[in-house]
Amino acid sequence: MHGLQSRLSQTLRLALLDRLSHELNADLSSSEVLKRVLNAAAEALGTPYASIIALKDRQVLAAYALGGGDRDPLPSVRLVLEDGLAGFVMYNYRTIIVNDITSNPLWLALPGDPLSPQTGSALCVPLTHAGDMVGVMTLAHPATSYFTADAVNLITMIGEMGSAALSSALLLEAAREAEKRYATLFDDVIVPIIVTDLQGHIRAVNRRACEFLGYSREEMLRLTIAAVHRMGTGPLGSDRFQSLAHGHEVHFQSKVWTRDGDERAVHVYAKRVYSAAEGDSIQWIEHDITSQLTLERLRQDLSAMMYHDMRGPLGNVYSSLQALQRLLGESADANVKALLQVATRSERQVRRMIDSLLDIQRLEEGKKLLNRANVLLNELIYAAAEQVRPQADDNRIEMRFALADDLPALYIDQDMIERVIINLLDNAIKYSPPGGTITVSTATSDGEVYLRVRDSGPGIPPEAQRVIFDKFARVKQRNMPHGVGLGLAFCKLAVEAHGGRIWVRSDTVGSTFTFALPVRAPATAELPPLGVPGPE
Ligand code: ADP
Repeated sequence: MHGLQSRLSQTLRLALLDRLSHELNADLSSSEVLKRVLNAAAEALGTPYASIIALKDRQVLAAYALGGGDRDPLPSVRLVLEDGLAGFVMYNYRTIIVNDITSNPLWLALPGDPLSPQTGSALCVPLTHAGDMVGVMTLAHPATSYFTADAVNLITMIGEMGSAALSSALLLEAAREAEKRYATLFDDVIVPIIVTDLQGHIRAVNRRACEFLGYSREEMLRLTIAAVHRMGTGPLGSDRFQSLAHGHEVHFQSKVWTRDGDERAVHVYAKRVYSAAEGDSIQWIEHDITSQLTLERLRQDLSAMMYHDMRGPLGNVYSSLQALQRLLGESADANVKALLQVATRSERQVRRMIDSLLDIQRLEEGKKLLNRANVLLNELIYAAAEQVRPQADDNRIEMRFALADDLPALYIDQDMIERVIINLLDNAIKYSPPGGTITVSTATSDGEVYLRVRDSGPGIPPEAQRVIFDKFARVKQRNMPHGVGLGLAFCKLAVEAHGGRIWVRSDTVGSTFTFALPVRAPATAELPPLGVPGPE
């Protein structure tokens, strides 16, 4: 055994390992870990030459040599990893002792390199952690056969300690890097983002949120999300935010007030998130939809104007048809009469469509019902049935009536509810087979009046039942026949605007559409906008 190593008593070794374990604390950078492990190993074995290479997936992360200073070690490192001892150890995961470096081809004498001996012996150990190769350490001494089994044991222990410390340091650095990237992304992202604690106190905001709301970051950090949205009692107090607590994303439309008192419309996506920096928190992404809503309003105004203007020429068509009918009188040919009837019926249909489109817009905006009067529902049903009778007759469909005679009068917009009934009858006729039967019945119970339209059609599959009252249901559903699908959407809006309900039951022998209207009319104050949940 070599003198220097034999003098290194067991106690000294333990002391050295103990010192190293204290030195390798969690705050060290990966480069500092490498340097300390290298120095400790060289000191423990008394070698004047030592180098260490940190690796990830066999790529060099960093490398240091004893006494190397700022000199770039990479050219030598590449050489030894490609053809030398370090490369052999990296591929074979084995510790190698070279007793005489002059006779071993793996030892690459690097002429002119003062950090690499030309004669003597060398020891090269793999640094592994959890089965991964994280580095290679090489020690060399001018004496041949310098390294003993004891030396290998000691260096293995130092290597294990170093590998573990190096892996944690690299992980920590990667995490910090990711956090830095996230922070930059968070700040640079072009949508306003606010992070609050679970009580709604603002904990972080990105630059865009500050710009959007006109507050400085410091001012924002003194606010709550409720103050930004003016939501009153705070976000998690109310039922609508319960699902947030369960980790679901909540979205809703709301308004925010900027520091200057401007009101902006936003679509908010709120989600409970966890981050190391903020802990358990809620992330509020605020999409500014003010200009979108302005555009939408413009579009709606434009189409309302167009629908409105279409009524004029349509009125001319109607009066011309009436005049023609009068002019021709009884003398008209049966074919001419039939054509006139078709034209009159079609004109009425288009007028009803235009009126319903206008109503949809007004109702969606939450406008009041303007033309309410006391109306007897049964009479309205007969009037509606007369409008669709020609279609029913064409298809040999029988319309039956089972109307209750004790119905109270309803305070309703007669024209609107008549169009609802016509829509339901129209659909029932459209979807019933020729020769089928349609039954219209009415009843009253618990302060409500019910109207039912039952057909003998093919029925509506359950998945379609869920969407047929949506606007443009036919357009959205691929497997439905082509059409606009506004009829039932109008029915729903109209019935709900009267404080009522509408629903469908359907099986393979037919469908039953029912609506219920309250006998005592609800107050006709401005109705809440439909389809747009308010901020409360
Ligand atoms: P449209 O008739 O213009 O498509 P509606 O809103 O009136 O629009 O109806 C939406 C869809 O509901 C229809 O396309 C049809 O698939 C279905 N539907 C409505 N009424 C019936 C019915 N009585 N029987 C079967 N399907 C129906």
